[in-house]
Formats: sequence, structure tokens, C-alpha cells
Amino acid sequence: MYDLIIIGGGPAGIAAAIYAARKHLRAVLIAEEIGGQSTVSEGIENWIGTPKIHGADLAKSFKTHLDAVKNDFVMLATGERATELTKTPEGMFLAKTKTGKEFTAKAVLLASGASRKKLKVPGADTFENKGVTYCASCDGPLFGDMDVAVIGGGNAGFETALQLLAYAKSVTLIHRHQEFKADPITVAKVTAHPNMKVLRHAEITEVMGDQFVTGLKYLDKNSGETKELKVSGLFVETGVMPNTDFVANLVDLDEVHRVKVDPRNQRTNVEGIWAAGDCTDELYHQNNIAAGDGVKALEDMYLWIKKR
Ligand SMILES: Cc1cc2nc3c(=O)[nH]c(=O)nc-3n(C[C@H](O)[C@H](O)[C@H](O)COP(=O)(O)OP(=O)(O)OC[C@H]3O[C@@H](n4cnc5c(N)ncnc54)[C@H](O)[C@@H]3O)c2cc1C
Repeated sequence: MYDLIIIGGGPAGIAAAIYAARKHLRAVLIAEEIGGQSTVSEGIENWIGTPKIHGADLAKSFKTHLDAVKNDFVMLATGERATELTKTPEGMFLAKTKTGKEFTAKAVLLASGASRKKLKVPGADTFENKGVTYCASCDGPLFGDMDVAVIGGGNAGFETALQLLAYAKSVTLIHRHQEFKADPITVAKVTAHPNMKVLRHAEITEVMGDQFVTGLKYLDKNSGETKELKVSGLFVETGVMPNTDFVANLVDLDEVHRVKVDPRNQRTNVEGIWAAGDCTDELYHQNNIAAGDGVKALEDMYLWIKKR
């Protein structure tokens, strides 16, 4: 039996695991891999204290740091996916994994992050990280003085476009419908920029390229014609899916399936379960924020566990 189970090996889960080890809590970390979403990034330029680091190197540094402090306090169950979490009649929590392992603990930290909704058209997979990207704040500066496109007509799409307008030669926002989901004020602000273009009623059908993206094809739904647009980068902002299926019947989720937390201490509605990072209804999704949320949760869990 453990003091706590941490589910997820991104910055939220690893930060919490490091703090757990240093506080001599007995923890098990269940994680498919260590590193989290930005492992695939070519260059992370906002991890505080590190001007630039490849995502894979950031993941290695998480593992190195955890190995340096974990001793016998944190047990690693990596390569494992939590598939079920239940409360036992004794008031403990039981996590089951896809390979049939079971772990019991007094408390649980959900740090299972989120997965971006992927663009599902020919070429999108082939050119992922070769012009097709899912993170403007990470990769935007790589597209200085280039023509780029953003897919998505919500606030994320428009805010991404706004960020890109600081570097790019032109930004074309492509939206499937006529009306935008984004706030009218944001739409007005972004579309007023001279380098901004908007294609409404347009459905992307293919990403084209050789080594990197060179353009895309889209269906102009007004005319029924397939047209081409030359761009060097394509930013997909069609939303994220939190990895919360395995707790959907246990903790309160919001309308888009993110775990609802108290932002002061990361507690969920269930006594003994905390959540941190991108799986929560936290407004902003970044590595530093996820790590901070993980630390905040762990500090609160420590006091809770010690009082039991
Ligand atoms: C391509 C890309 C580049 C990015 N670049 C930057 C950047 O430059 N700077 C920045 O600040 N942010 C960046 N972000 C955002 C940042 O990566 C996230 O905000 C951050 O990773 C969230 O951390 P997290 O720990 O909450 O979750 P995640 O990083 O999503 O980690 C979740 C972890 O949980 C695991 N997991 C999921 N479900 C289960 C389960 N059921 N059982 C066990 N394990 C599970 C996953 O495998 C993963 O290890 C980027 C995101 C992407 C997609």
C-alpha cells in the first residue's frame, strides 16, 4: 500500500513525484512514458531557467532528476496505462493498469494530461513537426517571415493567429463554418491586422509538401471548388481531449471532460483525489504551469496524508 498514486509522467506528474520523494512519501508513478506532450517539440524555449531545450532532452532531464531523488520512496510503473480507478470499501484508492497490475494508496494525483485533437487528412501525419504543428507558443517563432495557416475558428485559433502575426509574413485562418466560435472582440482585433486573412466555409482536405509543408488543399464550400494555398506552416487548433476516461465515473468533470479542481490546492470533489496540469480545468496549458500545479497538489496532499 502506498501513500499516493501519481498517474501521468508529464511535468505535472514528475514535479509531484520529485516532491513526494523529497518529503519521504511512498508513491507509485503510473505513466505510459516520462516527458509528456512536449517531448515531440523541436525546441522548448520557455521552460524557466533553460533558454532552449529539445523536448526529448527535457524528458531525459525529468527522468534524471527523478532518479536522483527517488530512492525507495517513488516506485516507477512506466509503460503502464491506468485504465480504472475506484474507491475501496476501506476508503483507499485502487488503480488498475492495462497489463493487469493493481496499486492501492491513501491518495491519488491525476496528472494524465491531454491529447491534441489531430488533423485527420492526407499528409497531416507525414508532415507533423515538419510544418504541421499543434503549439503556436512553442513553434511560432520558427516560422518568422513565412506564410502560415491556422485551422480552427474558436478562441484558441484566433489567439494562435494573433501570436503568429508577431513573426509570420501572413496568417490565414481556415474555418469550416461561416460563424466563428471565438469571442467577437477577439475576432475583430485579429482580423483587423493587415497580414491576416480568413477563409470561412473552407474545409482542409490535404497537406502538401516535400521534406516540409509547402501548402494545403481545401474545399471552398461556397463554390464547391478545391483550391490550394501555399504555406510553410500549419497550426492546428481544433481542440484537445483530456485523458480522463478512466475517472469519468469517479470525479466531477466539466463539459469538455476536464477534471474540476479548486485552483488553490488542486483538490477534486472527491476527498483523497487531486488533479494537476492539462487534465484539469486550469485555464492555461503550459509545462511550467503543469509543474507548478503538480507541486501545489503535492504540498496539499502531504499535509492531508500526514494528518490521517
Ligand atoms: C507539440 C507540443 C509542444 C509543446 N511545447 C510547449 C512549450 O514549448 N512550452 C510549454 O510550456 N508548453 C508546451 N506544450 C504544452 C505542454 O506540453 C503541456 O501543457 C504539458 O505537457 C502538460 O503537462 P501535464 O503533465 O499536465 O500532461 P502531459 O504532458 O499531457 O502528460 C501526461 C502524461 O500522462 C500519461 N498518461 C495519460 N493517460 C494516462 C493513463 N491513463 N495512465 C498512465 N499515464 C497516462 C501520458 O502518457 C503522459 O506521460 C506543448 C504541447 C505540445 C503538444
